[in-house]
Amino acid sequence: MEDIKTLFERNKALLNGHFLLSSGLHSDAYFQSALILQYPNIAQELGSRLAALIKDSGIKIETAVSPALGGLIIGQETAKALGARALFAERAEGKMTLRRGFKISEGERILIVEDVITTGLSTREAIDCVNGFGGNVLAVSCLVDRSQGSGKALFDIPKFSLLSLEVKTYSPQECPMCKNGSEPIKPGSRK
Ligand SMILES: [Zn+2]
Repeated sequence: MEDIKTLFERNKALLNGHFLLSSGLHSDAYFQSALILQYPNIAQELGSRLAALIKDSGIKIETAVSPALGGLIIGQETAKALGARALFAERAEGKMTLRRGFKISEGERILIVEDVITTGLSTREAIDCVNGFGGNVLAVSCLVDRSQGSGKALFDIPKFSLLSLEVKTYSPQECPMCKNGSEPIKPGSRK
């Protein structure tokens, strides 16, 4: 299989340009995991690769937990390759929780699976949620790590990713692309 970055770019899941993010910041690159995960054979391959990183580390996982919605597909595929269960966490009244009758045993060995980690804050919420249900979160994994170390401080457990991306973000006032007269594009994640 081709290089991960090339694969993302070829499927337009990774775009370079001038983007207005939902946070209001401008950035020079944009990653939309749904555009790569729409191909089940690619999703399966990416899940296998993520699972291989976990297996190589020697960490034994019983269950993968993904924050909805972005983590669902890659969580399922990674869990399949690990022979693990796949659960998802979701927000209820603003708080990350497990619903749907999902149960975690005391001390169950958990991997958090995300599509992309940016600030690491939502991942931290997922860890706290799972630990609150009695699970033992042993590692965090994602397709793309954009945290540039900012998420690192939030996790005291190993983090695995297929691609580490340095994405520059700017406030609208400071954006050098705006200063050059270009208009930011809002990527199509929201309607
Ligand atoms: Zn700009």
